[in-house]
Amino acid sequence: MDNTTDTFDEYKWSSLKKDLKKTVGDTAYNNWLKHLNFVSIQDSTITFSVPTKFLRDWIVNNYSDKIKDNSKNYIKSIDVIKFVVKPTGGRIVPGTTRTIKSNDNHWKSSLDVRSNQTSNYPNEFGAPLDPRFTFDNFVVGKPNELAFAASQRVSEANKITFNPLFLCGGVGLGKTHLMHAIGWKIKQQQPDRKVIYLSAEKFMYQFVRALRYKDTSAFKEQFRSIDVLMIDDVQFISGKDNTQEEFFHTFNALIEQNKQIVISADKSPTDLDGVQERLKSRLGCGLVADIHPTTYELRLGILIEKAQKRGVEIPPKVLEFLSHRIISNVREMEGALNRLVAHGTLVGTPITIETAQLVLQDLLKSSNKKITIEEIQKKVAEHFNIRITDMHSPRRSRSVARPRQIAMYLAKSITSRSLPEIGRKFGGRDHTTVMHAVKKIEELKLSDVNFNEDLELLKRLIDS
Ligand code: ADP
Ligand code: MG
Repeated sequence: MDNTTDTFDEYKWSSLKKDLKKTVGDTAYNNWLKHLNFVSIQDSTITFSVPTKFLRDWIVNNYSDKIKDNSKNYIKSIDVIKFVVKPTGGRIVPGTTRTIKSNDNHWKSSLDVRSNQTSNYPNEFGAPLDPRFTFDNFVVGKPNELAFAASQRVSEANKITFNPLFLCGGVGLGKTHLMHAIGWKIKQQQPDRKVIYLSAEKFMYQFVRALRYKDTSAFKEQFRSIDVLMIDDVQFISGKDNTQEEFFHTFNALIEQNKQIVISADKSPTDLDGVQERLKSRLGCGLVADIHPTTYELRLGILIEKAQKRGVEIPPKVLEFLSHRIISNVREMEGALNRLVAHGTLVGTPITIETAQLVLQDLLKSSNKKITIEEIQKKVAEHFNIRITDMHSPRRSRSVARPRQIAMYLAKSITSRSLPEIGRKFGGRDHTTVMHAVKKIEELKLSDVNFNEDLELLKRLIDS
């Protein structure tokens, strides 16, 4: 590479920043790109850091083209951009790199595992891996960070740290996605390790078939050469005694041979109905990683990612609206996005909050009704077991002040009332008090998972 002339100094960096500001405008620059820092240039790769994963994903998804174009004005040979996460004042966080590579007309977000899909995979025993389900496409937030980290660990480790990894969580929260991601990662980085992914139903079906053909030894044989076995939705195994028995033996045998097992279910091992006690305790003896219900931030992050993948431009306001209103699960939210995009392209109308309301009427119907501040106050007071008059009272003890702040926050995020209007409904408080409350709650949401879940629960209660 003849990059010797491509030196990049403080001066160039500050003029590149100025260019970016010009390209994206002051607001977008101050919101997002201001946080971008230059790290290094090596050969054709330029590396930037940002303080959080959220910023990284937002910038990658929305601005990588513009960053590329502008960087190229300074260093022509650039064809890879990396973004790493480096908290302010901290060090670069390992494993947070997102890579954008150039190809002819468009720059493409990294890790194309599809090309690795070989014809001998899947074998007849396992099920194929879905190329859409990779770690790269998985948006991480508080509710799923443990499950994500554990899945990554399992896919990277040569030595087994926890066995089995048990992913549990409600429908549509990303269990299957993570399992496929583990599969892809191992295939990519350690192609010699044999990974099998299958649903518990398929496992049962195979076993029953083997019984019928009196061929259970062949069934067992299939597992011998496996290094990593992933079984999805084991709640479906419940009650089928024969299968459970077989599963148990297979499971024990693999664990004894130090093979990695990954299991998913919609419940924790102890809550599985109709499953033998010894199987339950065996299932729970590794790491049980819960995937909690999504939060607003996570839903927004996921929507941004999915919209980006579809290559459609959706106004941030609409994405925010959807993240507020569709809270059941990610799959439903994706469905909503698809419908909206389809409607947009077919009918040719711009995607706005109004079209979203129209097109997604059925999904939103429970939330469509106008929620009043009074209702919010009532529900929050009930939830925290305080008197509704405490919402208006000047009392400042924490037991009432915090619920009051929560109610203010919810009033701000759910209704379209202004800060002064909200203040008035809370015993004539000043709008700065409301603003302070909103900020406080947002901070708590970020720092405390339990608090966050409680808040989501409240939102659901209010919406229903
Ligand atoms: P589960 O197996 O838990 O029912 P899935 O893994 O099938 O859920 O997820 C449902 C859909 O939601 C999939 O399309 C998946 O890609 C998407 N999804 C769920 N969580 C995330 C996430 N954190 N980031 C990106 N996509 C997600
Ligand atoms: Mg699933």
